[in-house]
Amino acid sequence: MESVQLDTGAYAEALDRADPLARFRDRFNLPIQANGEPHIYLCGNSLGLQPKKANEYVQQEMEDWSKLGVEGHIHARHPWMPYHEFLTSSMARVVGGKEIEVVVMNSLTVNLHLLMVSFYRPTQKRFKILIEYSPFPSDRFAVESQARFHGFDPAEAVIEMQPDVDDYVSMAQIESVLNEQGEEIALVLIGGVNYYSGQAYNIKSITELAHAKGAMVGFDLAHAAGNLHLNLHDDGPDFAAWCSYKYLNSGPGSLSGIFVHERHAYDTTLPRFHGWWGHNKSNRFKMGPVFEPMAGAEAWQLSNPPILPLAAMRASMELFDEAGMSALREKSVKLTSYLLKLLEILDHPKIKVITPSRSEERGCQISLQIKDADKSMFDDITNRGVIADWREPDVIRIATVPLYNSYKDVYDFYSLLKEAL
Ligand SMILES: *Cc1c(COP(=O)(O)O)cnc(C)c1O
Repeated sequence: MESVQLDTGAYAEALDRADPLARFRDRFNLPIQANGEPHIYLCGNSLGLQPKKANEYVQQEMEDWSKLGVEGHIHARHPWMPYHEFLTSSMARVVGGKEIEVVVMNSLTVNLHLLMVSFYRPTQKRFKILIEYSPFPSDRFAVESQARFHGFDPAEAVIEMQPDVDDYVSMAQIESVLNEQGEEIALVLIGGVNYYSGQAYNIKSITELAHAKGAMVGFDLAHAAGNLHLNLHDDGPDFAAWCSYKYLNSGPGSLSGIFVHERHAYDTTLPRFHGWWGHNKSNRFKMGPVFEPMAGAEAWQLSNPPILPLAAMRASMELFDEAGMSALREKSVKLTSYLLKLLEILDHPKIKVITPSRSEERGCQISLQIKDADKSMFDDITNRGVIADWREPDVIRIATVPLYNSYKDVYDFYSLLKEAL
């Protein structure tokens, strides 16, 4: 017997009062509507909100630059030379990697290419790349161009998985593709969470299956880092990469993180593109002619990184350290479960949830497919203060981000949607 009424603002507010993470909302700047009220921001899967501290941290580097010039590399309050190292341990915690396995550098698509230089090494017999269903366009372009670069026809070399359960892909389906074509697959490259459907893939199972077939395995965690509770070291993929401007709130276009499993940390036989920032840091400035790789992920670095976006990233990573991924994930499941429950109550024929209903198979994004691709409803809720996104041809993506979204946000979205219908 359901004695409480879930679809009321009072119920949502009671959930917020009981939420141990509720205090984090106030550590972010929420975009403000013309009427002075904050937007109902449900777009953290596209661009995370600005931590209030980000401005101060960026300003600090601007000041140190103005006062110190080049000396800031050593004498800034946070010296620029090792600046990326200030992010490593927090980032390693977010993805469940060891420090030697993680570094922040470049941007995401660049890193996918750099990692494929090392981990996509096709032969005439084993040259295929298995990718997820409906990948983000950049990932598709990246793998196709890698196949072509090695002299293969992408039409033959790139296999896109196909959905078998509604709009998503079951483990059984992945297993059957690997059983059929595993001997020809050089690389399995899957998104941790699909950007469109919101399906979360099982990293551990996919890694084990692919490794059993002799393939390398990588994950694009753009929609998984800071969202799922990841355990990359234990799950064992060869590599992963993610951007930091979605769930990791590091600002538009901010840097990417990479993971390279410890088993490759000291392997000098791997092909790799080199630059001076991957060289042994203890004698990097001797400027010698012979490359000595650093151990682990840091060897993949090419350039000295831009400090200003890293400063903004520090502000966000402090919040992740304070909240912890396991508490965040727990709240995330509650938020999406609440949203799904409300949509069930709404039970509208125009709306179909295409994100898997099992919580293990989703992060904090719920994708709603709209009948007849009718965008007017989306425009309507946008005009009423919701920031979400519309993905062609017919999907509204809603991200309820545990660091700053409230149960009341979920309820407000639901009631505006109800009005719009
Ligand atoms: C957001 C996203 C990207 C964006 O790539 P950039 O190189 O950061 O512009 C790539 N792949 C996936 C899966 C994404 O979600």
